[in-house]
Amino acid sequence: MRKDVRILLVGEPKVGKTSLIMSLVSEEFPQVVPYRAEEITIPADVTPERVPTHIVDYSEAEQTDEQLSSEISKANVICIVYAVNNKKSIEKVTSHWIPLINDNTDKDSRVPVILVGNKSDLVEHSSMETILPVMNQYTEIETCVECSAKNLKNISELFYYAQKAVLHPTGPLYCPEEKRMKPACIKALTRIFKVSDLDNDGILNDNELNFFQRTCFNAPLASQALEDVKNVVRKNVIDGVCDNGLTLKGFLFLHTLFIQRGRHETTWTVLRRFGYDDDLELHQDYLFPLTLKIPPDCTTELNHNAYLFLQSVFDKHDKDRDCALSPEELKDLFDVFPYMPWGPDVNNTVCTNNEGWITYQGYLSQWTLTTYLDVQRCLEYLGYLGYSIISEQESQAAAITVTRDKKIDLQKKQTQRSVFRCNVFGDSGSGKSGFLQAFLGRNLTRQNIVSEEHMSYYAISTAYVYGQEKYLLLHEVFPDFDVLSDADLACDIVCLVYDASNPHSFEYCARVFKQYFMDTKTPCMMIAAKSDLQETKQLYALTPLEFCRKHKMPPPQAFTCNTADAPCKDIYTKLATMAMHPHARLRCMCTCNRCTFCHLQNFINSELVQTVKAKLYTAILSRHVTQADLKSSTFWLRVSVGATMFAVLGFAMYRVLLKQR
Ligand code: GDP
Ligand code: MG
Repeated sequence: MRKDVRILLVGEPKVGKTSLIMSLVSEEFPQVVPYRAEEITIPADVTPERVPTHIVDYSEAEQTDEQLSSEISKANVICIVYAVNNKKSIEKVTSHWIPLINDNTDKDSRVPVILVGNKSDLVEHSSMETILPVMNQYTEIETCVECSAKNLKNISELFYYAQKAVLHPTGPLYCPEEKRMKPACIKALTRIFKVSDLDNDGILNDNELNFFQRTCFNAPLASQALEDVKNVVRKNVIDGVCDNGLTLKGFLFLHTLFIQRGRHETTWTVLRRFGYDDDLELHQDYLFPLTLKIPPDCTTELNHNAYLFLQSVFDKHDKDRDCALSPEELKDLFDVFPYMPWGPDVNNTVCTNNEGWITYQGYLSQWTLTTYLDVQRCLEYLGYLGYSIISEQESQAAAITVTRDKKIDLQKKQTQRSVFRCNVFGDSGSGKSGFLQAFLGRNLTRQNIVSEEHMSYYAISTAYVYGQEKYLLLHEVFPDFDVLSDADLACDIVCLVYDASNPHSFEYCARVFKQYFMDTKTPCMMIAAKSDLQETKQLYALTPLEFCRKHKMPPPQAFTCNTADAPCKDIYTKLATMAMHPHARLRCMCTCNRCTFCHLQNFINSELVQTVKAKLYTAILSRHVTQADLKSSTFWLRVSVGATMFAVLGFAMYRVLLKQR
């Protein structure tokens, strides 16, 4: 919103400018007035729109033309005052004042003008007949008003209109010549309609209208009022009401009506609530809230509430309920965006169905990826979807979890994160892209139909780490060392891919490892790709297996995506597990879900154990806690004993099970 409003009064001498200002301030007609009133400032809390308002007088006798020009360019709204009983002062409105104002203001940002006919107490007839044609001729004239400083008629109205002309200008909304809303306004309202149409059936039903009303005006609409609104629309537009709800056509008609009846502040309230600024662009503060600070070594993820919202957006657009978005459904989903955010590369970044359409899982993965790589962009996208409004949050930033500093995670050997990044290195032709695409369930045959320019350097999907679903983000790093960025090196796990059938392929992996990762704590995994082909001896001092042993890496993992069905996913589960538990040195690398280690991990993470654990805590808490207890140290002792008991028990079982192996 604006900080303040500056109103300037101009007009011929003696039309009553100074008297109008004095009448407003003192609420009585001043018998004697100076040539020019001092500039006055009305504090925000006594103005109807709650904005500080400056009122500036002009006097030809006291001011030069330069001073007048400067005041005109400073003003936010100009009242041209004439006296209704003085023909000459009316003529001067068009012959002198409007041209003068236009000369002193920008063509693109015309200052709104209000025509003020003063001294209405002196005549029987209204001046409107003369004034209306003038209004139609000059679109910068916002409105006109007849008033009297003498009997205080329409004085506060005049200043209210002036304020409104600045705060809720009709200019961006409505074209008076064509008597309809401007395209930008229609576009904005259409987006608002789509966002508010929660079930996407093209109709705002009573629930949706009530929600809309509540978010925009902080009050639900009484059911009778709701009916009245619908009746007005029914009477005036065919198809404005359908199935007892408001169609887009009806919604737009309603706003045209508001504007035509001078109630355009209603439309502005709606537009502003949905993030629009005075130029009907989405406001920067709405799209990019500044509240979000991301310290180094922290990553960004979507929280539960945000996933729920995105789920509902998906559901409302997956009309055929096939859990995938067809091209039309996707287009419809992004209709509320000013541009199409997802290019064809997205289809090669996330899981798709047999038709190549992004699945529900793929859709959530892409959102997760955007949040991880470019949180600002994610906020922007959420803004277009109306996240903060529909989910009733303070700002888009409420969707984001900033994770704990990775160093602390490592120190505590625990992480709450759900997205892990794996950077994939390898010489050109070693099979990196195939490795990424296989994660999306695509074998070589399927990969070959993708055109080069639609390829993606990212692949993201989920993997289960001991029963918990986690996102694994694979990033293919360009093999040229000279162009490596910090982001190419920062990750949770490194994959070193070599072509097992090419004797020159391994050397690159060894070099990358020695140059960048040997001295870091980042876990590394060697992948022997194209294992369906004949393996050849690598031209390097050590064999890959020896190299891995020497550097305390797991042995090279044979991998191929040249399979009849979808390639095997075990390797990705391993990667996600290593990324999540980098500290677990003596790790069972199989993640087969059959061996004891896997069973045990599954057991510890199982819902049963978690529930028992929670119940145990609640039991201890509810049985023993009274107000006095909370203060006493014995209570905390008891709770911590409970927790320790559980930890000891868990550990003992772990050891028993391990021994069995
Ligand atoms: P300015 O030169 O435009 O500032 O005009 P003034 O405020 O000095 O007023 C000029 C004369 O018109 C004064 O004698 C005022 O008393 C008189 N006047 C101002 N407003 C009204 C009004 O609403 N009705 C009548 N009857 N006289 C007015
Ligand atoms: Mg004066």
